[in-house]
Amino acid sequence: MTEKIISTGFILAFLTIIACSSEEGNLLPLKPSESRPRTNVSLTSEPTSTTNVSESIEYVSTNTPISVTTYQPTVKTTPVSTRTTNQTQKFPVSAKDTTLETASPTQTPTPIVITPTLKKEVVEPKLPNPTPNPFKIISQICTDESGPVCSELRLGDDYFTTTSPQKGYLYACNAKNPNAPGSNTDRLTWVDFTMKTWNFFEKLWLPKGSFEATPGTYEETIIGNTRTIKTNNLPVDGKIGDWPMTDYPILTEIDRNPGIPSSGEFSVSYSTDPSEADSPSCVSLGPIGITKNGVVIYNASDARGEDAVAKEIVDIFGGHPAMTDYHYHFIPERLDNKFLSDGHSDIVGYINDGFPLHGYKGSMGIEMTNKDLDMCHGHNHGVLGYHYHATIEYPYTVGCYFGIPASGSHVPRQSNMDVRNEPPNKNPDLSRAASILGVPEESLRSALGPPPPNLAESAIILGINEDILRAALGLSR
Ligand SMILES: [Zn+2]
Ligand SMILES: [Zn+2]
Repeated sequence: MTEKIISTGFILAFLTIIACSSEEGNLLPLKPSESRPRTNVSLTSEPTSTTNVSESIEYVSTNTPISVTTYQPTVKTTPVSTRTTNQTQKFPVSAKDTTLETASPTQTPTPIVITPTLKKEVVEPKLPNPTPNPFKIISQICTDESGPVCSELRLGDDYFTTTSPQKGYLYACNAKNPNAPGSNTDRLTWVDFTMKTWNFFEKLWLPKGSFEATPGTYEETIIGNTRTIKTNNLPVDGKIGDWPMTDYPILTEIDRNPGIPSSGEFSVSYSTDPSEADSPSCVSLGPIGITKNGVVIYNASDARGEDAVAKEIVDIFGGHPAMTDYHYHFIPERLDNKFLSDGHSDIVGYINDGFPLHGYKGSMGIEMTNKDLDMCHGHNHGVLGYHYHATIEYPYTVGCYFGIPASGSHVPRQSNMDVRNEPPNKNPDLSRAASILGVPEESLRSALGPPPPNLAESAIILGINEDILRAALGLSR
């Protein structure tokens, strides 16, 4: 009972901190362009943290009759001091932090009434690991002992090849294209271009906010030996960032992606009994597989042929849109949440050749690295047969197709092709546009004809809406 009182007290104190750190009592970071220029104090860290907090709120609201007045001051001081110490060690203290620090002493005039025995039982409150910067995230696989060192992940730019598959490389079908849209290299403060590494902990991500997408769908049916997966390409678990990113100047100056995710039909059919191809094949831009969360997987590179996970801004839930097409370039850790009896990760999705993609853990629950996997980023063991693994190092999902890839059907959307704030692009990236439209690049090129293209005519040739063609080319109206 006393434990319950204490833990309730902790939660109350925790809520007090939240109330202190946010006038609106809103747990979600505000958009910087809104009322406050800095929102460094936020308890939003990992996707799960926010959920934990709201669960705590429910718990307290149903238990408030318990009298905790005597204990409140005690428990109030503990988490506050822990938290502020933590912050001052690691992060610059903002105006908000100062408020927090000065608030706690003035609010603790009541003598602490607690017996020594009870004091011993007071354990560290299980607060979500506070990440004061709402643009940064933490990760379990990055904080444990095994697997790649997340503060110096290998930058994938030099591990991109179009000639032949190699272990640890992405064997890509599309050549590098330095003119394609991508991030502003000068602003990538978490990338060490000398060491050719990037720091997961220092990377910026789009926070959660008020944006809500249509609920995601995922429907998997098996008829004979064909597995058909239909989704609306939005996350089934509903976890998505605050798109469009153009509302966040700090992020837009790094990556000008103007996209807004919206639902669209996505359907693929794979063999349930895929077989090894005579030789591995290259991986194209655009969808290369689908997660059980209903969101498509793109390969590890951006349209330039550079490391998309290291360089592009995605949301704290791991995805971002190409126009309206939400996708992952790596597997968000929360999707790796089912394990086989020996600790091996379960299937998190399927790759275009029909082989399954498992999560981060191999046999005995040991986190996989490129060293454990073949050149296509998979391996074959036990009853599982051949399967790919997610890793937190480039190429993240697959390096090449071990089997024969099926061509997915990707229906471009007819609505919400919002390209606002996107400046006219003098050199549209045809390879990226073709991938967005789901047509061969040659078809797009011939439909456009010699410059300057007549977009209305080209759209008719391609059998698509002119706005969609414009959006895919990154052109404004
Ligand atoms: Zn992308
Ligand atoms: Zn395995």
